[in-house]
Amino acid sequence: MTPDEFRSAGHELVDWIADFRSTIGDRPVEARVRPGDVRASMSLGSLDGPIGFTELLAQVDRVVMPGMTHAQHPRFFGFFPANVSLSSTLGDLMSTGLGAIGLSWQSNPALTEVEEVVCDRMRRLVGLSDSWHGVISDTASSGCLVALLCARERATGRSQLRGGLQRERVALRVYASSQAHSSVRKAALLAGFGLDNLRWVPVDENHDLDPAALAEMIADDLAAGHQPAAVVASVGSTACTAIDPVVAIVEVCAPHDVWVHVDAALAGTAMLVPEFRGLWAGVEGADSISWNPHKWMGTALDCSMYLVRDVDALVGPMSTNASYLASDSGDRVTQYRDWGIPLGRRFRALKLWFQLGLDGVPSMQDRVRRDVDSARWLASTIAATPGWSVLAPVRLQTVCVRHDPGGRSAAELDAHTLGWARRVNESGVAYLTPAQLDDRWMVRVSIGAEATTRRDVQAAWAAMRSEAEDR
Ligand code: PLP
Repeated sequence: MTPDEFRSAGHELVDWIADFRSTIGDRPVEARVRPGDVRASMSLGSLDGPIGFTELLAQVDRVVMPGMTHAQHPRFFGFFPANVSLSSTLGDLMSTGLGAIGLSWQSNPALTEVEEVVCDRMRRLVGLSDSWHGVISDTASSGCLVALLCARERATGRSQLRGGLQRERVALRVYASSQAHSSVRKAALLAGFGLDNLRWVPVDENHDLDPAALAEMIADDLAAGHQPAAVVASVGSTACTAIDPVVAIVEVCAPHDVWVHVDAALAGTAMLVPEFRGLWAGVEGADSISWNPHKWMGTALDCSMYLVRDVDALVGPMSTNASYLASDSGDRVTQYRDWGIPLGRRFRALKLWFQLGLDGVPSMQDRVRRDVDSARWLASTIAATPGWSVLAPVRLQTVCVRHDPGGRSAAELDAHTLGWARRVNESGVAYLTPAQLDDRWMVRVSIGAEATTRRDVQAAWAAMRSEAEDR
């Protein structure tokens, strides 16, 4: 494709995306396909060209669009707000179009230095002090893995440079609450701690980690000759927005040099708004933080901020010294390849720069406040409706709800819950995700798509009532 052909196709594509976004609210939210339908609508031969761009777009319309569940739809209340602002979409396009590869500062000085400035701005926007340093990574799952690898290396005095974990005589322990995201378990296993050394800390009635129980577990482990290495604190758990008390966790961990990683994948965006920063009080004493602008903030996936206080504790375990990456710039430059696992990196900072510059921070803060207000409205409406209950405090934008018509066994009630959630989704009016809380099914209404207004929340509530009541 020549630059001129790209220009013409690119204009067509931008028009297509703009049309798609401006009509998205008229579509059913959930894809109406069965497993295999999308595959069956494609033939291998259809992948081979050359064909014209207009024809290719027609194929996309036919194959892809029926299989889309629309996360950008104003009545998408599933999983978490997975917003992709159009401003950051432009930054993503530019990033790809520039074709930069960030292997080292030398391989693209602009990529590195723009990322440094953008990360610094992001840090300030959520009120963190200048003892924090940020890097953009792909996901919070990677952030958690990196945190646990660094915790492992700090706890063992760099066992990686000797016989690794295989030679350590004491077992290293990792702690998280039962509400922690599944990526915590995955990271602990991948980092070699072993399932036996991952300890689930009890939670209180709000599903927040109980710091007294954590202190007791750490004391027991020390007495048994184990070594506490890391705690993952969830600030905004996925299922019910549990908020682990970071201040108390840090107090428990500090005397034992236990690494505290704060998983604020969703809730980090709330910290753009000063009145929500109390939710992560004590964060300045933590060691690392994950926050996904690619969730509620609306930066195109993938864009996850990983923030650390002690850069050496990150760069030590992560650094590489291949000869072709050597430079004479030395300490004067940042080598982001040593701040995480991948070598090559995309110019992700452009997505954030474009979004900050084109949309402005006040619009993001207004959206956070708008969504929290809508969640509070929905929770109070639900709580006042017979047969319905709100199952967890509404800390931010997620409402956990159950409808109980009465007279049903636990299993029947679970089936009722899953049934009405499925019917709402199949109706195409709104999209919700069921999840388990205390081993029972409930439904999460996760508010925060960029286009969601109070009327959309009201429409979802009407659909919930109509699918759940009188069944
Ligand atoms: N932590 C929390 C609290 C989450 O809600 C999620 C995703 O939903 C993750 C971590 C994992 O995020 P990612 O998809 O960026 O790995």
